[in-house]
Amino acid sequence: MDERIIVEKKDEYFEKLDEEEDLAGDENGNVMLMGERFNIMASKYFMSEILVILQDSYEEKAGEMLFESGKMYGKDLLDLIGEEKSFDESLGKMLGLLKFLGYSDSYVEMESITFSSSPTAEAYKSKKMFSTKTCHFLSGILSAVAENHGKDKNFKEQTCQAEEEGNDCVFVMV
Ligand SMILES: [Zn+2]
Repeated sequence: MDERIIVEKKDEYFEKLDEEEDLAGDENGNVMLMGERFNIMASKYFMSEILVILQDSYEEKAGEMLFESGKMYGKDLLDLIGEEKSFDESLGKMLGLLKFLGYSDSYVEMESITFSSSPTAEAYKSKKMFSTKTCHFLSGILSAVAENHGKDKNFKEQTCQAEEEGNDCVFVMV
């Protein structure tokens, strides 16, 4: 194939990304991110490994630290999503965004949010390190949405995929 043509197409591609810097969602919770935000996607490739190392090194303290970092990151993500009138709308968009960032589909029920997998839990599983909840960062992100809508409760992980084979990562407000 002519290399020059590939390069031209690549330029066009990034030009197009620049033009479409909006966050667009649909009723299935799918979100497309364009422009600089596209870079966020890269976080999925290194973030989970870093989180595993942190948690191994600092154990419970790391859980708190990861939760707080997740909350801060969640606030940044909320800035991308923009102001939403209701908690449900914000949460829906956040869950769509998280799917884009490498998390699984998620299901919201009255009192809980369920992910069939998370990058952190996957990283633990790949190292065969079970028996602990690992998704503190995700708890923090979800809690940022709650806080943003004036709720004085946080999301905590009730069961984690990394804790026991067959588990989903389930978050409840406490
Ligand atoms: Zn988990």
